[in-house]
Formats: sequence, C-alpha cells, structure tokens
Amino acid sequence: MICNFPTPHPGEILYSVYARYSDRMQYRSAPAVMQDLYGDKGKTVNVSFPNGLGRLINNLPPKHNYTVGGLIDNHTMLPFYEPFLPASRIALLRNLMEANQVNSAPSVVGLRTGPFSIECTRFCPRCVEEDRKQFSECYWHRVHQIPGIKFCPSHKMYLQACNISAEESRNGHRYLSAERMIDKNLPVFSEETNMYKDDLWKLTLDAFWLLKNHTTTTHLATIQKKYLILLNDRGLATYRGNIYTSKLMQAFQQYYDSTFLKSLHCELNESARDNWLLRLPRNSQVVYHPIRHLLLIHFLGHTVETFLNLSSEQKYFGGGPWPCLNPICDHFRERCIQESDVIYTSSSKHDKPKAIFACNCGFTYSRIGPDPLEETLFQASRIQQFGPIWESRLRELWEDPTITLSQIAQSLGVNRLTVKRQAKKIGLQFPGHLHKTALPQAPQNNFDICPEQTPDLALLERYRTMWLSTREKYPEDLVGHLNCKIHTTYKWLYAHDREWLRSHYPTHKSSRNASRNRNWEQADEQIATEVRSYALHIKNSSGKPTWITSTSLLKNISQFSSIRANIHKLPLTAQALAEVTETHEAFVIRRIHWLVECYHLEQVVPTRRQFIMRGHFYLAHERWTSVQIAITDALSQLSAN
Ligand SMILES: [Zn+2]
Ligand SMILES: [Zn+2]
Repeated sequence: MICNFPTPHPGEILYSVYARYSDRMQYRSAPAVMQDLYGDKGKTVNVSFPNGLGRLINNLPPKHNYTVGGLIDNHTMLPFYEPFLPASRIALLRNLMEANQVNSAPSVVGLRTGPFSIECTRFCPRCVEEDRKQFSECYWHRVHQIPGIKFCPSHKMYLQACNISAEESRNGHRYLSAERMIDKNLPVFSEETNMYKDDLWKLTLDAFWLLKNHTTTTHLATIQKKYLILLNDRGLATYRGNIYTSKLMQAFQQYYDSTFLKSLHCELNESARDNWLLRLPRNSQVVYHPIRHLLLIHFLGHTVETFLNLSSEQKYFGGGPWPCLNPICDHFRERCIQESDVIYTSSSKHDKPKAIFACNCGFTYSRIGPDPLEETLFQASRIQQFGPIWESRLRELWEDPTITLSQIAQSLGVNRLTVKRQAKKIGLQFPGHLHKTALPQAPQNNFDICPEQTPDLALLERYRTMWLSTREKYPEDLVGHLNCKIHTTYKWLYAHDREWLRSHYPTHKSSRNASRNRNWEQADEQIATEVRSYALHIKNSSGKPTWITSTSLLKNISQFSSIRANIHKLPLTAQALAEVTETHEAFVIRRIHWLVECYHLEQVVPTRRQFIMRGHFYLAHERWTSVQIAITDALSQLSAN
C-alpha cells in the first residue's frame, strides 16, 4: 500500500506525480518507485499514456477519491488525442491504460515516437512562481509538455526548457521532478520574439481546451466529414468529398509558412501526392498528431471548440419537413413532406447535391442544392411527377371551353408550354385548347363528338356552310381567328371532316396582303370601338369570368397579329386597351364576386378553405392583401345571407 502518494495538482502530468513521490521517498532510481506503486521493479511507464492505473489505484490506501478515468482525463495526454482517434481505439486505449500488461498504448494510438515523443522538461516561469507560492512546490504541467506548444496558456509566456544533464539522461529510469530540475533562482526571463506567435498561440489555446474538456463524443470519422464540408464551403473539395488537391496545397501553403510547418514537424511533402494534409480529411483509420489537425482546423477558420460543435451532417436542403408545391394539393406550400419521403442524390451535371421531394398527392419535384436562402424552399428545380390529382385537375380545366390556356397554366402553377406537354402526355385532344375564347359562339347546337360514328349528313352540310360563310364574312381572318369565332363548328369539322376543313382554310397570302395594305388610320377608330364592346361583353357575360387582357380582346378581332404588330399606328386602340384590360389582381377579385354569386345560387356557405380551393385563389391569396380582404368580405356576405 502506498501511504505517501502525493495529491496530483491541477493540470499535472502523472509522470510529475511519480517524480514528486520519488523525491518524497528520497528514492534514487526508477525501479524503487515502480516497486512501491506497482509492485513491479521492472515496470516502465510511458509519459503520455501511462498504464497499470488499475493496479496503482488498488495500491492506494482505502477511502481515496481516485478513479482510473479521473487520472486518465486529468493527468494523461489521452484527452488531447481522443477526438482525433477512430472510435474503436478509444475504448481499447482506456482499457490498456487501466491494465497492467506491457504498455502497447502508444502503438495503439498509432503514433510513432520520434518528433512527437515527450519528456518532461518544459515549464512556464510564472507558473513555477505561482505553484511554489500556492503548493510550496512546482510541478510539470501537462499542457507545457505537448510538442508544438510554445506558450503557457495561463500566462501567454514563452515556455522554457531545462537542460537534462548528461548524467541525468544516462540514468534514463529516474523520475525527475520539476522542483529538482528547475533552478530555485530562475534566470531573468526574456520574452522570445517569434514571427509565428499568433499561430502558436492559437495552437496553445486549443491544446489547453482539449485537455480541459476531454471530449469523448466526437471521433475521427465525424471529424473527417466536417473537414470535407468546410473544404467544400471554401471551394477546395466537391460536395461529394473529392478534394482539389493542388488548390488545397496552394491555399494551405499560402496560409502557413513552410519554416513554421517544419518547426512543428508538419512540413508538406510536395512531391508525394498523399501527404498528411491530403490524407487527414480522407483516411478514417490513420492517426495523425493532434497538432496537424489543429493546423487544418485553424486554416479552415475555426477553433477546436467551434469545429467540434459543427454538425457533421450537411443540411444542403435545410431541415424538413418540406412543402408540397402542387397548387391543387390540399397541402400546397405546407411543410408536409417528411425526411422519409426525400431521396438524396447528386446532380452529375452540376456536381451538386440534389434531393427529390415526393408528396402523398403524387406531386414529385427535385431541387439542386445547396439552398442559399429559406425562400428556395418553395422553388423546384424540376417537376418529376405531377401526380393523379394535378392531372385530373388539368383534364377538368382542359375540357372546360371557357378557360384559356393562360388560366390553366396560372391555376396549375406552371407555364403554358408545360400545360400543353402534360395534356399531350395524358392523351388530351389537340388542338382543343389552343384557341379558346370566352365569347359565346355563333348560335349552334351543342353535341357530343363521337368520331367513330358516321357524321350526320345534315349536320355536315350545316357546318360546312357555316365555315364557308364565316370565312367569306371575314376574308382577312386566319384559321385561328375563325376557330375563335365559330369554335364549335371548327371542332366538329376537325373531328369529322378534317380533310375538307383543311382544304378550306383561309389562305395566308391574302391575309398578309390585306394587312399590308390596310389603312390603319381609318381602321383605328373601328378597332378601338370593337375592343371596348368586346370588353363590355366579356364583363357582362354570365358564366365563369374571362380575364380581360389585350390578347383575349384582340384575338376576337380580325388580323389579330397584325394589329399587335402595328399597335404604334393605332393610338385609339392602344388607349382603349389600356382602359379596359384588367390586372391579374382585378381579375381575381372579379372572380371572387362571381364565385359569391355561384354559392348564393347554390345556397351554400363555404369555409374559407373551400372558397379558396374552388376558385383556385391560393397563389393570389398569398400574393395580394386586396384578395384576402375581398375573400373575407365575400365570406361574411355569404354567411349573412
Ligand atoms: Zn504559466
Ligand atoms: Zn401534395
């Protein structure tokens, strides 16, 4: 049993405790100390990773407060290494340090001796002074002995080293206490100037932090993930973790002077492609000295504390859940897509992360990351699948002759081209929608088109006559204009008598000539009047409202495209258009009023949600306060009735 075991001082390395014990017992050799502490004369103890700590504890008198873990954390070098070791080795090391077998801990750490082996020779004169005052003796501080640490973290003083005399070093198995080695009268301390002072000071602070905080939660594999994230942030690696080696080497060498690196035994071997810097973020099993990790961490703009607190999971798309971007979905813009419905992949084209988000409604979109801003959450890079709900809504809108292509696009949240493409994809009939108009057709019968049946000859005659007479009446119209004017006729002929129809299209030539020769000055007044009366007509017509835009007005007038092209020659028309066309916002509000009428007739009082859904007001509702107010008014009007 050891009765005079010295109480370890704060931050004292265990070797120093043994040395003070040796002094206390006035032993002149290491075997005597080992015999007392371990009952084994032949034992040698490694300075950084002492072993046999279990036996040491057992040899202490009863009721002591020491534990193996406590000794390791507070009086050995392991906490300095721990975050930079593979997880599997940490438990093994702690076991080895507790056991009393041959000490294989240093080789398990994976460190060759050489430049990083330590002996206790270094001290801070101010610490010596203070320790002597407080404890009546000085001791070897753990942090002062770390190779590469040149400062005392408490006093920011340059560390000094004792010379071990030839006799002392010959007697290699002796425990040398600080009190014995450091002169009672310290030489006058002159602060050494060092051009790398700032970098050295950073290393000191971080080494000290590691020793004090003995972080056991982070391990090498997560550290390496973080390196790759930070290298990617700085453009020195791809997001998939491929390092731009020459770029990294260049940036690192600009940051650290080669002399400085050499002084720390951390020089880079330029000729070898895989030097320590390039291997540090890559190979998760090779152990490198913590000083090298600290150099890289500082280069990446962190302290060890901020670095260890970083997340090792790069959230390229922010935290979930993510919104559905299908305007027809009940969960439109609601964050309803859970992590489990997201597939992370990579965009080979951009070498960027890509995620595919799938809502239950079937709508699936992808986004290329990383998201720079929160708003990107609501932007899809590409829609992968529209899903059955969206498609059935498209079908519904497509088949409604009062709805224009633009309105479909608006209500489905895509552009007109996408509407057409998707319509084609799901087999909707063309050109069904391309020239829709909200204007009532010339009085015609409604009928179902059944291409399989032989057409009724009387009908055939009737529609052919209608087509020819209209073509005659509007000699300047192109086929599109005629389609607008007598859409049902066109549709019937297209389905049953296509060849005849094609052979009776108006000729483009005459139309172009007519346009060229037209006297715009004379025509202006008439066109302006037509525009105004059409606008009034649209506004007053019952049924689902049509958006009054210059396109929706002009396409009902002969020579639609040439009017557009010559609008500068048509001041009255331009004036009329400016006056009668409505903004999208105004159109939405008109639609709100119309919907109120519908509900009124149906004698139904909808909820706000039902109202918005039926009118497809989601986007507008989000965009304009006036729309929100109009909906509120509409609902209170309906519930009052
Ligand atoms: Zn000090
Ligand atoms: Zn959805």
